[in-house]
Amino acid sequence: QPALSGSFSTLMEWADKARRMTVRANAETPADARTARSFGAEGIGLCRTEHMFFDDERILAMREMILAESADGRRKALAKLLPMQRADFAEIFEIMAGLPVTIRLLDPPLHEFLPKTEEEIAEVANAMGVEVALLRERTEALHEFNPMLGHRGCRLAVSYPEIAEMQARAIFEAAAQAAEKTGAPIVPEIMVPLVGIANELAFVKERVEAVAEEVLSESGQKIDYLIGTMIELPRAALNAGEIANAADFFSFGTNDLTQTTFGISRDDAAGFLDTYRQKGIIEKDPFVTLDRDGVGQLVRMASEAGRRTRGDLKLGICGEHGGDPASITFCEEVGLDYVSCSPFRVPIARLAAAQAACRSGV
Ligand code: PEP
Ligand code: MG
Repeated sequence: QPALSGSFSTLMEWADKARRMTVRANAETPADARTARSFGAEGIGLCRTEHMFFDDERILAMREMILAESADGRRKALAKLLPMQRADFAEIFEIMAGLPVTIRLLDPPLHEFLPKTEEEIAEVANAMGVEVALLRERTEALHEFNPMLGHRGCRLAVSYPEIAEMQARAIFEAAAQAAEKTGAPIVPEIMVPLVGIANELAFVKERVEAVAEEVLSESGQKIDYLIGTMIELPRAALNAGEIANAADFFSFGTNDLTQTTFGISRDDAAGFLDTYRQKGIIEKDPFVTLDRDGVGQLVRMASEAGRRTRGDLKLGICGEHGGDPASITFCEEVGLDYVSCSPFRVPIARLAAAQAACRSGV
């Protein structure tokens, strides 16, 4: 059911005719996906998967997986999660009914999945049938002083490829299931987070492709899919030409790209950035409005280099800036194909994308 009606919906129709970029939403639950569609989203540009593992049943399996001694132990724990992931993705694919859906492989700071209290450690030890002291030791060994710069994103997939393999299997099986149910062609877009080195993407891609082949040989179903990467580290932007060799699309993660370009923690910035604004050092909060001079330069450079490698490279943005009108104007200037923002910002993004296209004479 469309959430917009009357003259506002007419205005939005005019805007839609004027714009060039498509507007997607960041959505990770069926409720988000429905809201996104009701506001006119034309796909999901970022389905984060880390929050899917925090409920009681799943977090235990996740902890067993991370604290297992061997790849076999990890696979055993992941086998418990596979049916749930498949159901998560199938429902989202069905709601989106053939519109593009970009699913990002797990990107947590690792510590969020570790047991924290003695009871949690005992619970996991019990489920795994190992000594509490041994499990405490393994948990302590994974402690990080700076998790946001630590075992995150594709680094986790390099350490534990079984997670990416389970997620890829869930995605392909869910896509096949949803295609059968809706009759719509479902072409999942699998996104690898926090890539900084082309070899990281190549490593994960190889595993995803192997799973695609496996699922194909089991089911006999053809699976079309795209594989791409977030560009959210300066190193990735600087090496985008090389990274594009293994990518069907780039999605700019401008939350992390802003954090890592400025060297300012995205979680702690608010206090002193307010002071900076009051003292005239900066005009706008760069976590809200894309910083054209620094972060924007990296986005532009990566877009151009990526497209030099691959003329048809799809380009989008999925950081918070994707719902900010001034930043959307910048995305139009750089020639991105789509912006992706929170579901409730989709109407604003549709209007801003239209205004930006009119300004640039599309
Ligand atoms: C980003 O970094 O811009 C992004 C979209 O990813 P996340 O906010 O989940 O780190
Ligand atoms: Mg990020």
